[in-house]
Amino acid sequence: MDHRKINKVLIANRGEIAVRIIRSCREMGIRTVAVFSDADRTAMHVRYAGEAWHIGASPSSESYLNIDKIIEAAKKSRADAIHPGYGFLSENAAFSRRCREEGIIFIGPSPEAIEGMGDKITARRTMIAAGVPVVPGTTEKVTDETEATRVIMEIGLPVMIKASAGGGGKGMRLVKEESKIVSSLRGAQSEAKTAFGDDSVYIEKYIESPHHIEFQILADRYGNTVHLFERECSVQRRHQKVVEETPSPSMVPDVRARMGEYAVAAAKAAKYEGAGTIEFIMDDDLNFYFLEMNTRLQVEHPITERVVGVDLVKEQIRIAEGNPLPFSQQDLRQTGHAIECRIYAEDTDNNFMPNPGTITHITEPLGLGVRCDGYVYTGYTIPIYYDPMISKLIVWAQTREEAIERMRRALYEYKITGVKTSIKFLERIMDAPDFRSGKYNTHFIENNMKFLLAETECDLYCEDLALIAAFVDYTGKLEKVKLTMDNSTVRHGSDWKQFGRRHAAYRL
Ligand code: ADP
Repeated sequence: MDHRKINKVLIANRGEIAVRIIRSCREMGIRTVAVFSDADRTAMHVRYAGEAWHIGASPSSESYLNIDKIIEAAKKSRADAIHPGYGFLSENAAFSRRCREEGIIFIGPSPEAIEGMGDKITARRTMIAAGVPVVPGTTEKVTDETEATRVIMEIGLPVMIKASAGGGGKGMRLVKEESKIVSSLRGAQSEAKTAFGDDSVYIEKYIESPHHIEFQILADRYGNTVHLFERECSVQRRHQKVVEETPSPSMVPDVRARMGEYAVAAAKAAKYEGAGTIEFIMDDDLNFYFLEMNTRLQVEHPITERVVGVDLVKEQIRIAEGNPLPFSQQDLRQTGHAIECRIYAEDTDNNFMPNPGTITHITEPLGLGVRCDGYVYTGYTIPIYYDPMISKLIVWAQTREEAIERMRRALYEYKITGVKTSIKFLERIMDAPDFRSGKYNTHFIENNMKFLLAETECDLYCEDLALIAAFVDYTGKLEKVKLTMDNSTVRHGSDWKQFGRRHAAYRL
């Protein structure tokens, strides 16, 4: 099969993942092209890329989801490949197909593989045929109420009704009582229709005390497929990941080995090429079942990179060029422990409402074992149009205990003003006994919400200090104004400033 060197990559994405991809390209001597919407004129990925092309208005449907505009930018900039990142067009088979038709290398799987795994009912059938254990449930779309009730009673309550085109936790309903079957079915269908334009749903047994465990895989076009071990992603809110770690504290070596083998078998059954993730759900007795395959780079990929020592973006690019994998399964090991926290611009005390706005100040954590994949800077305004994730904070240490302490330290160092963030909430997760013990499942956040949202003495104290700091800032500005107006009135402000300094010096 032919090999084609990639010299220039267009990144069809924005935010932290666009910056992260450009970083690997720079290290490989590959030139980069950013694309941007109106709202992203001053974005970091635009500043950091070798060149940047405007592709449309702020709503993603008019820019980052507009296939024609992106292909046009790739042609004009003479990019020979496109990296889709995650989200946006990354799991869009039509985009992968269009790249192929236009002679542009898509750094990701074939359209056929995306289609096969994007439809969860088809994916379940493929996995069953390959001998991979799937969650007990239907392998056909369910539409009729009577049929749904019959099937559910056969599987046994509780069950999950899930959208076949699902993603991001949408179109999913947990059903515990028979009387709720019909309303849940209709609810899941209409949510699926709105979110994905497809109302197909299927039914799965609800796994009690579930752990979300996923395996990273890499596959080249010559039939070599390896797994890069697991990620534990059970710290979730509304079925969305918040903190991830590897190795999983609930994993044991023989289950890891078996799951890894199934992950490789699953990728092979999907005729997969590139980087992908096989998600499993595991119960307290360590029984595990295939959940779905994500045919792209995941948000949480850096923890695997750190523990296995592989740059996943570089491997994606090398595979897309037509190179064979440079390692085999026996070459890969897990070393130490890594944790990732997703930092959001959100008001955790106000039902986690997104809180975009202008960053008035940001200090990112540094030091041994700390990686901060972000894209915002002081003075940057987070647009309202996109996901409110600010960055991902990743730490590594020899042991899980040390990694938790390092994460606490890094979160403490992380200072962002101007927008509300989830940093305090994440600090509380690191302090939660259930998290520290490693004995947690996907119910962790809901079961610990009171603890995670509680105001600590320190928070109240910090709030006082923040007030004083704001006052000091205010009087400082007043002072400058007064200085230009009348020298004799300066002393007032100055006294307050001294007061503020004396008190604020405690912690600052
Ligand atoms: P999506 O593609 O929308 O993210 P997933 O199938 O990956 O949906 O499921 C997301 C999360 O929902 C899982 O990580 C898990 O917490 C929960 N979940 C999904 N299916 C089940 C199930 N059958 N039993 C228990 N929990 C489930």
